[in-house]
Amino acid sequence: MNLEKFIANVSDFPKPGIEFKDITPLMANGEAYRYATEQFIEYAKEVGADVIVGPEARGFIFGCPVATELSLGFIPIRKPGKLPREAVEYEYELEYGTNTLCMHRDAIKPGQKVLVIDDLLATGGTVEATINLVKQLGGNVVGCAFLIELEFLNGRDKLQNVDVKSLIKY
Ligand code: 5GP
Repeated sequence: MNLEKFIANVSDFPKPGIEFKDITPLMANGEAYRYATEQFIEYAKEVGADVIVGPEARGFIFGCPVATELSLGFIPIRKPGKLPREAVEYEYELEYGTNTLCMHRDAIKPGQKVLVIDDLLATGGTVEATINLVKQLGGNVVGCAFLIELEFLNGRDKLQNVDVKSLIKY
């Protein structure tokens, strides 16, 4: 299935000069949403994941159905102040300023094989921070999967020793 036709390109969102990839038409089409999710499920089996990790909020959209289909756990990565119990944190650089992501300290058991799923790989900052959180808890990242990869932003450069799968490339 050609998934690209279900992605809407939105100019100047959320800021002037940015072309935003809107995945909501894909989510709204049951066949396309199911097809994309099935690709992630096959990849999760291939890499032998035993837990799925996804950054808020769009990482939940694909990460959760993959986890439930395979009877795996799903671990949310959240912004500061959202997780109710003790969390580990990782701060990373943005073009302007910094961002912090958090994960519950007891979310991952040492040695667990983790698949990270998110909707889109851009600069790679989000996934790099996510991998760092998993590693802080002794988890082993066996793969990272994205619906969309913006290849011209070279996010893969931050993922040198990690297996990466993306379903749509720009
Ligand atoms: P990165 O950290 O790789 O620069 O950015 C990826 C993160 O930002 C992802 O969590 C993704 O949800 C969000 N993101 C950045 N640009 C876009 C976009 O054009 N469309 C969508 N759907 N998400 C984006």
